[in-house]
Amino acid sequence: ATWLGVMGGGQLGRMFAQAAQAMGYQVAVLEPADECPAGQVAQHLVNAAYDDAAGLDALAAQCVAVTTEFENVPADSLSRLAQRVFVAPDAHGVSVAQDRIAEKAFFVACASKSHVMPAPHKVIASYEDIDAIGDDLLPGILKTVRMGYDGKGQVRVRSRDDVRAAFDEMGQVTCLLEKMLPLAYEVSVLTARGADGESVVYPIAENVHRDGILFTTTVPGPNVSADSALKAQNAAQAIVSELGYVGVLCIEFFVLEDGTLVVNEMAPRPHNSGHYTMDACVTSQFAQQVRAMAKLPLGDVRQHSPAVMLNILGDIWFDGESVSEPAWDDVLALPGACLHLYGKDDPRRGRKMGHVTFVAPTLAEAQAQLQAACGILGIPL
Ligand code: ATP
Ligand code: MG
Ligand code: MG
Repeated sequence: ATWLGVMGGGQLGRMFAQAAQAMGYQVAVLEPADECPAGQVAQHLVNAAYDDAAGLDALAAQCVAVTTEFENVPADSLSRLAQRVFVAPDAHGVSVAQDRIAEKAFFVACASKSHVMPAPHKVIASYEDIDAIGDDLLPGILKTVRMGYDGKGQVRVRSRDDVRAAFDEMGQVTCLLEKMLPLAYEVSVLTARGADGESVVYPIAENVHRDGILFTTTVPGPNVSADSALKAQNAAQAIVSELGYVGVLCIEFFVLEDGTLVVNEMAPRPHNSGHYTMDACVTSQFAQQVRAMAKLPLGDVRQHSPAVMLNILGDIWFDGESVSEPAWDDVLALPGACLHLYGKDDPRRGRKMGHVTFVAPTLAEAQAQLQAACGILGIPL
């Protein structure tokens, strides 16, 4: 049997494992927790910390290639693995994407090729840096440089005093202050690049966030103009090739009220906004990751149905004091419903428990089914 390895045992690792298994691979997962969504489906769980040398060496010895589902895996661990096995994405791509300062600097450096810029920003490492902030960066958002996700590690600030308070609140770790931009809508572009340098770009996805967490992804996006779609797709292709990246990469963009496209951040892995590809495209983002890391030809990214994806958070299990399983049977009775649950048996508010994608002959029909699902699940629209 041929083994593929993945760093991280969350839902992305689980869906990666399922795609790899469908293509005949055995899957080994390295994950510090002994109970995890990917561990339930993988053939082997290496239960070790992400920087545990023995665990990394065991994974490398077992597999022909290793990927990551967790963007904060230490870059040194990927370098260590790469001494023995093919690793995609590599330590360089992951280290740029996991550090907001390096990421912003990279976006600026490749702007002559991508033709997009990130939001105006400034590194905040001391009170002196705060004193030196230009008025043009306020109001803004102070973001931690590492480990932020789902809007965690971010504070919205209106004044210099707010920045000082937020910087203190974050324990005076180095942060990035970003200007708050007037967003018209948000999009993401999923790309994949093979070891041979060929790349593919999926259709552009329009994302709606709630409380900092992805709420829905709609493809084709109802607001997306042909011009911003083309610009974002061209920018994404320039970015992956400048990064020399191999594997699936997702880039988030903002479209401002005046139509300007701004690059926000990138995830060096399959992405929540790419889950629709599982049910609406010829090749899912997880199957694409398998192809890229196994040095197989990349798959067709063609979307065969309009799609709307709804994230399922733990909140819907709770009704006052009582905790109950949502009515999946009613959701599954809706036409075009593709339900994916991640095998997590402890729902918590804000925790991603699964997602449901509605595919239909027209986007309007898919949107109507999504509305019906929200009604069934008690999710306000
Ligand atoms: P993710 O879960 O996508 O990794 P994250 O915690 O890394 O999220 P960002 O994507 O940078 O954070 O920001 C979360 C959301 O906050 C964005 O999707 C956007 O809605 C809003 N946001 C972030 N930066 C800005 C900005 N400069 N101007 C306006 N809104 C912003
Ligand atoms: Mg992020
Ligand atoms: Mg984001």
